[in-house]
Amino acid sequence: MKKILIIVIFASFFYGCINDQQNEVENILIGMYQWESRTNGLVKFILVPIGQEEISIFKSSIKKYDGLTLTNKWIMLSDTSVRTVVHETGHVLGLQHEHQRPDRDLFIKIDYDKLLDKYGLAGLYSFLYIIPELYDYQKYNYDYSSVMHYNSKNVGDVIDSNGIPLSGDTPSEIDIQKIKDIYADNPRVITYALYGFNL
Ligand SMILES: [Zn+2]
Repeated sequence: MKKILIIVIFASFFYGCINDQQNEVENILIGMYQWESRTNGLVKFILVPIGQEEISIFKSSIKKYDGLTLTNKWIMLSDTSVRTVVHETGHVLGLQHEHQRPDRDLFIKIDYDKLLDKYGLAGLYSFLYIIPELYDYQKYNYDYSSVMHYNSKNVGDVIDSNGIPLSGDTPSEIDIQKIKDIYADNPRVITYALYGFNL
């Protein structure tokens, strides 16, 4: 009886591991497909063999961040939730953090003491003003629900949005509108490869 119990525990442990890894890849596919389906295919992500990709997606174990996009060519994921995938691939498509809009102080209040306490000087980097290159941010309302806005889970104590919920898990209407505006005349196919994931 004891033996069977041990086998069951081991089997469920291994099944759990395999299942988690499948879910990770599934989440990546689901996250990317949100951009594709909601823009009616204006942007598409296609998985290609390693070495042939435009963007490389790495599994990371650095829990200090959920995800990180570097020069729009590398994505590091330590959290493989659909939201993190949607957010990081949003960067690749050209979207900037909504809370870094130069006019953001009209809409949110940032507690710099808490920001420095929590993240140190490096934390400031994600709160500097940025003028997005690919779209005119002034054409769009400040988008509290943008998937590119840091949310209460990440920085609830740093950003005061006057009670307005910050960011969802999927692209907002305005996120989608921006992508449609950017790519209306130039649909884009982006190839990617996965590093460190079990395919
Ligand atoms: Zn980001």
